[in-house]
Amino acid sequence: MVKTEHIAEMLSRLVQIPSVTPRQAGARAGTPGEAAIASFVAKQCSALGAKVEVQNVLPGRPAVYSIWRARGSKRWIGIDVHLDTVGVETMEGDPFSGAIDEGRVHGRGAVDTKASLAVALAMLEAVKARTKSLPCNLILAATADEEDSATGAPAFAAWLRKKGTTIDELVVSEPTLCAPVIGHKGVVRIRMDIRGKAAHSSNPSRGRNAITAAGRVVDALNVESRRLARQKSPLGSPTLAVTMINGGSGINIVPEHCSISLDRRVVAGESAKSVSKKLLSLAKRSCPLAIAGETSTEIDAFHQDQRSPFVKRMSQWTRQRPAIAPYCTNAWAYRKVARECIVLGPGSIAQAHAAAEWVEISQLAKLASVYAQWWGV
Ligand SMILES: [Zn+2]
Repeated sequence: MVKTEHIAEMLSRLVQIPSVTPRQAGARAGTPGEAAIASFVAKQCSALGAKVEVQNVLPGRPAVYSIWRARGSKRWIGIDVHLDTVGVETMEGDPFSGAIDEGRVHGRGAVDTKASLAVALAMLEAVKARTKSLPCNLILAATADEEDSATGAPAFAAWLRKKGTTIDELVVSEPTLCAPVIGHKGVVRIRMDIRGKAAHSSNPSRGRNAITAAGRVVDALNVESRRLARQKSPLGSPTLAVTMINGGSGINIVPEHCSISLDRRVVAGESAKSVSKKLLSLAKRSCPLAIAGETSTEIDAFHQDQRSPFVKRMSQWTRQRPAIAPYCTNAWAYRKVARECIVLGPGSIAQAHAAAEWVEISQLAKLASVYAQWWGV
């Protein structure tokens, strides 16, 4: 129903609009953030008959929610596609060329994840050109801030709650080679600061050694990590790793300060918030000195029951079995606002965040045929 060349051209246009997440934006990034691409998407969607709302997720970082209502239908389907991309400083060639050659579209965002946006926009154009309307209500959520601090997904969930809208079937767009992904772990990241007292190293008993105290915390975290490894779940075992340590100010000074950071992967059934609380209290119990923790990330796991009707239909249409992903996506935030949710998109995660990013045009065509069956057009 839609020409593949048309999707590729749309994707090329989207890639040519830089939208690098601001904290990864260097000299080659163009204007960072989502503002330019958001205004492009808003214009396109209004022209395609949608009711468009813009939400400023962070200052200067808008998300665009476009809604097509179907007369007489109570069914809501939704697509989450994040507008931001990772940095481009280490990329080969022009990161925003959008070049189309040898069956691929090239450039930052081509696979992660403007591809799904291009397919959706091109298909909505085709629907409009045939003066057809959709048989169900559709919301296309072009979300902000996925790649950095993941505030875009909870912002969209909060917006849906405020509207009183529950989505029946939601697809979160990420490169899965068009396989339906039904689960991934969540993550908790904490930095802990231990305060001791400095003293001359020739007389250590006059000080309080923050590094030695940190060692006790690291030991306790290792015990916890071995305990977690014995737990089994459909998403695998939860994990815990101490990933950074920093302390001391001179080779002849008893260290006054030491910080450690950890990364804890959470599984379905765990709450990221309570995991982070428990880790902080474990650290306090095992540390002989004052310790303070700062949680930077608190993301729940995502797990959709694979017996759900939507997963079954998507498996049929994609001719692929439901899979578990090793990486995190926006899907973690939608448990209360989407009845069924999967992660699905064209291209491979192997090309995401890479020095050369591209997507196969045949993958775009495959997603278009899956969407056509899903939308019923
Ligand atoms: Zn992505």
